[in-house]
Amino acid sequence: MDANKRKNREQQVGRTLKALKKNNMEAAFLPSLKEVLPMVSALLQKGEQVAVGGSVSLKETGVLDLLRNGDYQFHDRYAKGLTAEEIEQVFRSSFSVDTYVTSVNAVTEHGELYCVDGTSNRVAAMLYGPKQVVLIVSWDKIVPDLASAVVRVKETAAPANAVRLDTDTYCNKNGKCINAKCDCNNLMALGAGSCEHTICSNYVVFSNQHVPNRIKVLIVGESFGY
Ligand code: SF4
Repeated sequence: MDANKRKNREQQVGRTLKALKKNNMEAAFLPSLKEVLPMVSALLQKGEQVAVGGSVSLKETGVLDLLRNGDYQFHDRYAKGLTAEEIEQVFRSSFSVDTYVTSVNAVTEHGELYCVDGTSNRVAAMLYGPKQVVLIVSWDKIVPDLASAVVRVKETAAPANAVRLDTDTYCNKNGKCINAKCDCNNLMALGAGSCEHTICSNYVVFSNQHVPNRIKVLIVGESFGY
C-alpha cells in the first residue's frame, strides 16, 4: 500500500482505538499479520479453556491452528467428524470457557462493534459467559458509523458468507442484500419475512461495556476475512 494511504488508514485506526477504549474495551493495533499469533498466545494461559466463533479471519490468520496445536483445552467446533448434535454441544460449552476468540463484521470509529448472525452462538458468547473475548479484526472492517456498518454487512460480509455457506438467498446469487441500504427509520431496510432463508437473524451492537477490558479488539493492518 502507498505510504500516504497507509498513514491515513493508521490515523483512522488511532481514532477507532481511542473510542473503543472509552467504551471499556481493550484495543490494540497490530501493523502486520506476523504479530497476530504472538499477541493471541500472550493473552492465553497454558491449559485454559478456549472456544471460537465462526470466523474466516481465524482460519486466514492461523489462529485456528494455534489453538488446535497449543497447550489449551480447545472446544473445536470444526473438529472432523462431529455430528450436528455434537457441534451444538460445543456451542453450549463455549459459553463457560476462559477465552472466546472470534471476529466481528464491522467496527465503527465511534467505538462500537457490529455483528450480524444467523444461529447466533457467536454473538451470544460475545455478550456474556466467557471471561474474555479476543477479536481478530482486519482494518478493512473499520467504518465511520453504524449506518455504514449495516451497509458493510449487506454489501460485503453477508454476501461472502452466503456464498461460503451456499445459502438460498438473494445475496448469494447477486452479491448484495435484497435491500443494501440503511435509513434511520428502518435501520435494516428489510420487510418482515422478506428473506426466507436469511443468515441475518440477529443484529448486535456492542458499545460501552460493564466489565472493563473483557473484550479485547486486535485491529490488524492487513486484509483478510469478510
Ligand atoms: S437479509 Fe438475506 S439477502 Fe440480505 S444480506 Fe442477509 S441473507 Fe443476504
